[in-house]
Amino acid sequence: METISIVVPCYNEEDAITFYYNEILKIRKEFNKKRVELEVIFVDDGSSDNTLSIMKDLAKKNKFIKYISFSRNFGKEAAMFAGLEHSTGDYATVMDVDLQDPPKLLFEMYDAIKNDGYDSVGVRRVTRKGEPPIRSLFARMFYKLINKMSKVEMVDGARDYRLMTKQMVNSITSMEEYNRYSKGLFSFVGYKTKWLEYENVEREHGETKWSFWKLFIYAIDGIVAFTTAPLMIATIIGVLFCILSFIAIAVIIVRTLIWSDPTSGWPSMVCIMFFLSGIQLFCTGIIGLYLSKTYLETKKRPIYIIREKNI
Ligand code: UDP
Ligand code: MG
Repeated sequence: METISIVVPCYNEEDAITFYYNEILKIRKEFNKKRVELEVIFVDDGSSDNTLSIMKDLAKKNKFIKYISFSRNFGKEAAMFAGLEHSTGDYATVMDVDLQDPPKLLFEMYDAIKNDGYDSVGVRRVTRKGEPPIRSLFARMFYKLINKMSKVEMVDGARDYRLMTKQMVNSITSMEEYNRYSKGLFSFVGYKTKWLEYENVEREHGETKWSFWKLFIYAIDGIVAFTTAPLMIATIIGVLFCILSFIAIAVIIVRTLIWSDPTSGWPSMVCIMFFLSGIQLFCTGIIGLYLSKTYLETKKRPIYIIREKNI
């Protein structure tokens, strides 16, 4: 009998978790008919509500339900990593507890791996309906940008919901970097991946945990983690401005020699100064971003800390 591990990160999800459990029971029944068992690993990401006690109750009633509880909120990336590290199934996937990742797609994913020889089956949303338009706009721009700059391909609309073989899961968990950006890590490891497309499903219970600002920072983390192109861009801008300044110096010397023009040009001077110091700060900021990530990486702090678990 084969086992599919399902990692479910939960952060203050007391409203959603029971609905999720009911859906999973239905799915499990179907899978059991095909002689496939499920292992559900709930990861409580430092929730401050009743999420953990609901998980414990469910785990008490069902042997196939496991839980891991963090000592504080470490973020969804840490929760996914912990869940995948603890998974024991022949296949593993990450699924949101809010049912935005339709559990039914798991059948199709399993078939594709089992019968068509894929190592992983991911899903991508072809629409973003129900999402604030400004968020969709920025998301689209982000994917265009990062795909231009990074060699690792990021698929627009791809979710973290994807079924993977144990081999691929091991490749992912072997990367112990602190600044984790799973969408990138999933493509970085390669393997044969099939994409299923589906229409966006809106969250039914509870609220989204991602503010626009949190997503914006996450996008920058993704860029810093998967490409050093911004450093190159900063260098190129620097070189261009050096060339430009040499030309300007030559022009000014020649002009002064011919027309001897002592004091005019103050406003243009100030503008140039503002512009150049802006560019300099911007480039120093880029370097600082990479440096700070390196700093965090060298500390080798744990990605998560477990307070209790039943695995
Ligand atoms: N989540 C988490 N830790 C966090 C934020 C979110 O484990 O710090 C979980 C959350 O409980 C949910 C999943 O990550 O299961 C996706 O979050 P959400 O639905 O809020 O994001 P959205 O679907 O709006 O992008
Ligand atoms: Mg959601």
